[in-house]
Amino acid sequence: MPKAIIVGAGIVGLSCAWAAQRRGWQVTIVDRDFEGDRASHGNAGGIAVSECAPLNLSGLGLQPLKWLMDPLGPLAIRAAHAPSLLPWFLALRKVAEPANYLRIAKALAALNNRALRDFEAVLADIGLSADIHKRGALTVYETHEAFANDVDEWELKRSLGVRFRNVDVAELRALEPQLAPVFVRAVMLEDWAHLNDPERVVTALRNRVNALGATFIRGDAVRLDAANSARPAVILAGGQRFDGDRLVVAVGAWSARLSKTIGDRALLESERGYNTTLPASATRLNREVIFAERKFVATPLQIGLRIGGAAEFAGLDAPPNYQRSAALLKLAHRYLPDLDESGAKQWMGHRPTTPDSLPVIGKSASAPGVVYAFGHGHLGLTQSATTGALVGEILAHEKPSVDLAPYAITRF
Ligand SMILES: Cc1cc2nc3c(=O)[nH]c(=O)nc-3n(C[C@H](O)[C@H](O)[C@H](O)COP(=O)(O)OP(=O)(O)OC[C@H]3O[C@@H](n4cnc5c(N)ncnc54)[C@H](O)[C@@H]3O)c2cc1C
Repeated sequence: MPKAIIVGAGIVGLSCAWAAQRRGWQVTIVDRDFEGDRASHGNAGGIAVSECAPLNLSGLGLQPLKWLMDPLGPLAIRAAHAPSLLPWFLALRKVAEPANYLRIAKALAALNNRALRDFEAVLADIGLSADIHKRGALTVYETHEAFANDVDEWELKRSLGVRFRNVDVAELRALEPQLAPVFVRAVMLEDWAHLNDPERVVTALRNRVNALGATFIRGDAVRLDAANSARPAVILAGGQRFDGDRLVVAVGAWSARLSKTIGDRALLESERGYNTTLPASATRLNREVIFAERKFVATPLQIGLRIGGAAEFAGLDAPPNYQRSAALLKLAHRYLPDLDESGAKQWMGHRPTTPDSLPVIGKSASAPGVVYAFGHGHLGLTQSATTGALVGEILAHEKPSVDLAPYAITRF
């Protein structure tokens, strides 16, 4: 039986493990904290298949600067982190070039257009088919100007297979009666879905992978060793070494540190996001709502209404600034009056974000026995099962069902 070492037990690493096991691989998973908190636990829980437009600040005029001036605005850069962020931001600027923008959007759509199907197959196998709610999502607009600014993006999405329809004020009221009457229009994203609780899915998937025979190794991976290309290995902080026929790197925002140890450079940042979960307000909405101008979302998870967003660039080690969670919650009160804050829980997570919004999926440039699966940014939950399926194909030497060229690590 061929053996795969998977480093990282977030939703992406576990999905790769599950896919490998289904193809007959013996799997060893390494993580420094299997049950610990991570992006995969506290995210917004959206299967956001409509999100195929890459992050792009160029078309926004002075808006990003205004956000940066606001200490609790939706975009923040900690001064101490700014110098190391520079190459990432310079690469982000290239996304705006029309040919790049379209190429990236197509590559995101290639994953997203099958993501729900792949995700539901995992949910079925782990016994959580009832944990997903296919009620769409609503993007709500306070001004006609903001909608007009987004029209090109909506048309691009339509051309790439995203199903949506315009919703007028009367229908919005009927769909989401608890929203304050301040919105002038909305867009219903027909294929978006949301979960009861993303942590529940991670836990059930980890248990399933365990039951299928995976070996779990607790440890801090400090470097890779691909000197013997037929037996790539991971080395842990204590010096222990684990090798296999293939090694998959899926440690989210920490992945570039590991890929660098075998000479593969990736531009990867932690795009830190914040939220607050309100258990007593769980039923205030019927579906996920995206507040277009304010850049935050509210998801009615079974465990509570989760309100969050923000993009803070402060690196992997700076302590969280939970004032950001509080600022988003304060904003939410304007749109969802009388939110019950009892039992509120604040959270911060590291989105593993590349400048072109595309994940890294594919073989190492320097060591073909090493396979990368990281960098999913805002869409790691959404694209997790699809990434697992593609990694399974790579392990099995099958022709990938999606052209993997756009996700290659060599693009950096
Ligand atoms: C506020 C917020 C909201 C979001 N909302 C959504 C959403 O609605 N939909 C969506 O699709 N995505 C969403 N995302 C993004 C999504 O959560 C992430 O893209 C995804 O969870 C990344 O998963 P991962 O498995 O790659 O990384 P992680 O979940 O970060 O897992 C990485 C794992 O690697 C381990 N690890 C790290 N370094 C080492 C090491 N050196 N040695 C051993 N183990 C290590 C960690 O312990 C961890 O278990 C959101 C993110 C945030 C922050």
